[in-house]
Amino acid sequence: ATANIGVVGLAVMGSNLARNLASREGNTVAVYNRSREKTDTLIAEHPEAGFIPTYDYTEFAAALTKPRTAIIMVKAGTGTDAVINELVNVFEPGDIIVDGGNALFTDTIRREKAVRETGINFVGAGISGGEEGALHGPSIMPGGSDESWVTLGPILKSIAAVAEGEPCVTHVGHDGAGHFVKMVHNGIEYADMQLIAEAYDLIRRGTGKSPAEIADVFAEWNTGELESYLIEITAEVLRQVDGETGKPLVDVILDQAGAKGTGAWTVQTALSLGVPVSGIAEATFARSLSSHPEQRAVAAELPGPQEAFQVDDVDAFIEDVRLALFASKIVAYSQGFDEIRAGAAEYGWNIDLGAIAKIWRAGCIIRAQFLNRLSDAYAATPDLPVLMTAPYFVEVFERAQAAWRRVVVAAAQAGIPSPAFSSSLAYFDGIRADRLPAALVQGQRDFFGAHTYKRIDKPGTFHTLWSGDRTEIEAEDTH
Ligand code: NDP
Repeated sequence: ATANIGVVGLAVMGSNLARNLASREGNTVAVYNRSREKTDTLIAEHPEAGFIPTYDYTEFAAALTKPRTAIIMVKAGTGTDAVINELVNVFEPGDIIVDGGNALFTDTIRREKAVRETGINFVGAGISGGEEGALHGPSIMPGGSDESWVTLGPILKSIAAVAEGEPCVTHVGHDGAGHFVKMVHNGIEYADMQLIAEAYDLIRRGTGKSPAEIADVFAEWNTGELESYLIEITAEVLRQVDGETGKPLVDVILDQAGAKGTGAWTVQTALSLGVPVSGIAEATFARSLSSHPEQRAVAAELPGPQEAFQVDDVDAFIEDVRLALFASKIVAYSQGFDEIRAGAAEYGWNIDLGAIAKIWRAGCIIRAQFLNRLSDAYAATPDLPVLMTAPYFVEVFERAQAAWRRVVVAAAQAGIPSPAFSSSLAYFDGIRADRLPAALVQGQRDFFGAHTYKRIDKPGTFHTLWSGDRTEIEAEDTH
């Protein structure tokens, strides 16, 4: 046995991760894939990596030094379960199985429990950054036991992206914590992408600028506080001209957004945890809305505003949109971190939120300069109850809120859908409200269902005899 790490699953992610591992000092990598061709291709194309090819699980296990460590990069779901079942047969107590796929965190909790009974460690690790990240340095979010982190930590640190000298990997928490955080990362990614798309749409329809001209706007934004990978690639996409038609590529791409499900998982989980992630939810629903052409064809008959949308001061409008984007983005991240906090409380994970912000600074899709502000906020106040109330963000809201409101008003008047901008603003106004109409909702609930209510002026639980003489009585707390 000569390999200190193994990779199972040699499609694009697995082979790139294996090459990344092999390129780091001190690593020798054993590889295995269900079908032989992928293994042979990888070995033939990358002799420099010094891979140890293996063609069955016994051979794979024999190639690994103890404690054996294997990263699975196969199709999430049944593929992952199939590989785990094979590995537990050939691994021994103390060995480590890492699932680097996009698993649902509850599957990871289940797998970790089952594998732990054999004495083998199981680590669910979220890996973000796509193919390029896997090859050159992803952001890695591992869960699993403390014991496995001792062996795995140095290996993952060696291949992770680096932000300001620090590797973008941290031991997130036990069992499913890593995949939970990766899930929320993807949810935030959905929100960020939708916000950028809304900004583009408003600028295009409000100013008549071409996609190439708007690419310049985004490139300019990318030199300031909005600097991020997603803003950078937005400029690239908008600048692209279709080879066949000579039109901007964005005008020939079908406007129906796909999704692989991690956004929906983030929203479903948030709903069961009772965390309002409205920006992420609207972004996820916006993709769903776009993907129903049959409904859109019929609904195209619905009336819209009479007047054409034309902004007077183009530069001022673009600056308003920039500020609306920044403010809405802060809301989306704040909501995402809320979900992580709630998940940690529900599942008993000790998650350092500031460390999560730090490992998202490089390697992953939502990498952005402003994540430093998030980690600063948690460094100053580790138990910050609402991320966006940190002083830096308050300053942004002070300067952005008027612009944000103007943009949402303009979008509504012009009939341009801006679900993520407007729901983020609604959340902002809701969370900062002194008094909410939730009081009326409680009254309604008490009326039709005797669900009771609490009073602002004395302790206890109350019910009004709505169908009787409408006096108030003390009641049992039924929520
Ligand atoms: P795919 O998700 O396309 O999966 C293909 C790989 O899975 C092949 O190696 C295939 O083997 C193997 N496989 C499928 N079913 C089984 C099975 N029952 N038993 C053994 N092996 C099986 O590959 P990707 O490289 O795109 O992604 C790998 C993982 O990484 C996924 O979980 C994905 O969600 C995750 N991921 C992907 C990202 C991306 O940008 N693509 C980003 C981050 C995470 P065979 O060759 O024999 O068919």
